[in-house]
Amino acid sequence: MISIQLKPKKEESLQRFHPWVFSGAIQRIEGSPAEGDLVEVLDNGRKFLAIGHYQIGSIAVRVVSFEDIPVDTEFWSLKIKKAYEMRVSLGLIVQGQNNTYRLIHGEGDSLPGLIVDIYDDTAVMQAHSVGMHETRQILAEAIVKNVPEVKNVYYKSETTLPFNAPITPEDGYLIGKETKELSAIENGLKFHVDWLKGQKTGFFVDQRENRSLLERYSSGKSVLNMFCYTGGFSVYALRGGAKLVHSVDSSAKAIDLTEKNVEANFPNDPRHTSFDEDAFKYLNNLPHNDQKYDLIILDPPAFAKHREAIRNALKGYKRLNAKAFEQIKPGGILFTFSCSQVITKDQFRLAVFSAAAESKRNVRILHQLTQPADHPINIYHPEGEYLKGLVLWVE
Ligand code: SAH
Repeated sequence: MISIQLKPKKEESLQRFHPWVFSGAIQRIEGSPAEGDLVEVLDNGRKFLAIGHYQIGSIAVRVVSFEDIPVDTEFWSLKIKKAYEMRVSLGLIVQGQNNTYRLIHGEGDSLPGLIVDIYDDTAVMQAHSVGMHETRQILAEAIVKNVPEVKNVYYKSETTLPFNAPITPEDGYLIGKETKELSAIENGLKFHVDWLKGQKTGFFVDQRENRSLLERYSSGKSVLNMFCYTGGFSVYALRGGAKLVHSVDSSAKAIDLTEKNVEANFPNDPRHTSFDEDAFKYLNNLPHNDQKYDLIILDPPAFAKHREAIRNALKGYKRLNAKAFEQIKPGGILFTFSCSQVITKDQFRLAVFSAAAESKRNVRILHQLTQPADHPINIYHPEGEYLKGLVLWVE
């Protein structure tokens, strides 16, 4: 295995189990590793620190082991097994009630660069590093071996791998094949998950607990689910007894999915209507429709995908939330989210605070939300915390 020797003192973050080696910390690379190769990381005195996947870019190594052990089929299998056992122990897999969860959450499961979501008997796997891409078949086999429910593994990494890597990833089944269309059950609700064409792995599993919370507050309310995608929040609101639910998304495909999912759970329910429209346009035109809401959900796509975009993203969050504060009924509840990893909880809260102040309305924080237990945050890798939400009472 090729060795990478660090500059003096650069071993400290690895000794605290942070799983990344930045290129600036490297003194010498012995040999010429290809992107995706396993490399051994040594301190300046050549003492072993970690084994990881080599990458080209500012993160040069993503650590898969802090122990000097063989990284073989058995190694990967054990990691998958441990991740599955944790989900079982958390009670996430409940026959007939819940077969939808995240099995592997990258660094949070000590598998940097790997995401795996489970929908019934299908695992959807996404690699964010060439190392994981090259290990995909071994990982797929490890999933089928350790997760008794899973028969099929779909690989979906065409858009997630570093674009300049010398590989041509192809999406497709690594094991098994598509068996049925409607397969995801989340808290007893049915969802069509289109992993072939949908965003990410096809469904946002990370909002499961937050959708449940919304359900508790929906009874008798008029609800606006902005950025609805698959209609997750809408379906929970309907089950919670909302008197009206409006779902909005600027993508026609998302509106299609939302309608399918509402239909699958509440056929011919007159309480639900969807709108294929831009969020800002919709919120701007509300006064004309005289259509204020008791409960608004704002779950937009990540406004900042990298650090340079933070300033503009914060402006975007402020503008969007200001619109909601303008439009929500007195005594309304606002669920507002940010899934931008580079934006901190405090920054997001400040953006929402500024929007609230602008509206001059009295606003109280009822809940501070985050990602669920199947999206764990490795305590040594705080960057893994990405989902932030506030539930606000707007007087
Ligand atoms: N709330 C969803 C996930 C939202 S993903 C869930 O629980 O699953 C973000 C969604 O925002 C996508 O479906 C995307 O099509 C939509 N979107 C992006 N920009 C938009 C805009 N300007 N107006 C309305 N929808 C938008």
